[in-house]
Amino acid sequence: VPNLLWLRQDLRLHDQPALVAASHEGPVIPVYILDDDAPGPWAIGGAQRWWLHHSLAALDVRLKAKHSRLILRRGKTVDVLQQLLDETGAGQIHAIRHYEPWWRKAEDALADRIVLHDGNRLARIEDVTTGAGTPFKVFSSFWKALQSHLPPPEPLAVPRAIHAPASWPASDALADWRLLPHKPDWATRFAEDWIPGEAEALGKAKDWPKEVAAYDRRRNLPSEEGTSRLSPHLHHGEVSSATIYHALGHDAASAAFLRELAWRDFTAGVLLALPDYGSVNGRRRYDALPWRDDADAQHDLKAWQQGRTGYPIVDAGMRQLWATGWMHNRVRMITASFLVKHLLIDWRAGERWFWDCLIDADYGNNSVNWQWVAGTGVDANMFGRIMAPLGQSEKFDAADYIRDWVPELSGLSDTTIHDPDAHGVRPRGYPAKIVGHREGRERALAAAATLR
Ligand code: FAD
Repeated sequence: VPNLLWLRQDLRLHDQPALVAASHEGPVIPVYILDDDAPGPWAIGGAQRWWLHHSLAALDVRLKAKHSRLILRRGKTVDVLQQLLDETGAGQIHAIRHYEPWWRKAEDALADRIVLHDGNRLARIEDVTTGAGTPFKVFSSFWKALQSHLPPPEPLAVPRAIHAPASWPASDALADWRLLPHKPDWATRFAEDWIPGEAEALGKAKDWPKEVAAYDRRRNLPSEEGTSRLSPHLHHGEVSSATIYHALGHDAASAAFLRELAWRDFTAGVLLALPDYGSVNGRRRYDALPWRDDADAQHDLKAWQQGRTGYPIVDAGMRQLWATGWMHNRVRMITASFLVKHLLIDWRAGERWFWDCLIDADYGNNSVNWQWVAGTGVDANMFGRIMAPLGQSEKFDAADYIRDWVPELSGLSDTTIHDPDAHGVRPRGYPAKIVGHREGRERALAAAATLR
């Protein structure tokens, strides 16, 4: 009797416990289902569809090298899996556990046929809890507690053989899913920066230990390539965080990096406690915050999305996001803070834009970070602590980064490029600030004051 291997954000053969378990038991039918209904507004975003197309194609190649293949189906997940169980006579479904609320619902609906495996996190998130047995809402406490669950198990090898079923069920053709943009193809630049798929993910995980020693010093500098750029690979599960963990030495040099890597585990815990975190304020008192949402605010939102705010660091970040599907973490914080505080626009509008534009868009990571920056979250900055974008730009030496992404400013010096207006050197063609720093700050503080 064959078993189904239900693949989601775990598109790999290496360290794939669901695959290992299924192959031990007999023939395996690997399945990926494109379901735009179950996640509702969180259906996979535009940039991520580009990634998914290439990642699925790469996975199919790897499976074929093992005389297996990837079956593609489209529709409501639970119905499609039931249908496949009937069609193939499969006994069980093996899958890696995920924490998005729509996946947990599907897992519950299939409870009598599904076997769930851990394997996408550094530890089993359900086990990393407070003394009272509830998930952590504050990262630093989560991180402390996580230590006692490390190291994660050694990565599992790719099964020597993946047995094929006597006959294969029908599969959609990947091209028919039309995951790639066409007319206009806004993703032309993506392929210069990224190679989706497990081979590249494993290669990066292997090379990263050579760079990790400089991580703590460089990670906040957008002008340098000081971070791992593993996020889209991790989101799609092309490499497990345990594999990355075991590739590193366990010294001070790796410690700063592991602490960041643990954030994605923390966000999974937040989702266990608060599954609606992508749309509901962690602190409900912020429900009454008077966000701007008139025509002016719409205009400002557009300017932010298009990188035309007149704040060079913000515009550089938003343009990097559009062109490459990724943005440096420091700049994600600056751009997000600018939208929420300086423009007083609801964090959910920014979260949605990131969701559509990021190749690493991740329900837990995106919502937890947006709520953290906005100050609406359970583990949060205060709303009233307002980041100064121009000061950040100078402090973290973003001049070269701005030159790369805002060519209108490429002729400006290291001192004037952060705030061309203040130095009287703003070139024609580059917009004036859409809101002054002090004006934006005061408007945000006044809005927060109405909550008292
Ligand atoms: P590295 O610094 O090399 O970190 C290694 C890995 O650790 C990352 O790949 C990621 O998986 C994890 N990680 C690091 N920092 C964080 C963090 N703060 N939260 C969660 N995981 C983290 N990350 C996403 O993966 N998806 C998102 O949708 C996402 N949205 C964000 C939205 C905002 C407003 C902010 C401020 C941050 C967001 N992040 C998100 C977190 C972070 O910016 C990215 O994970 C990071 O920039 C990815 O680059 P890297 O792989 O080079 O990171």
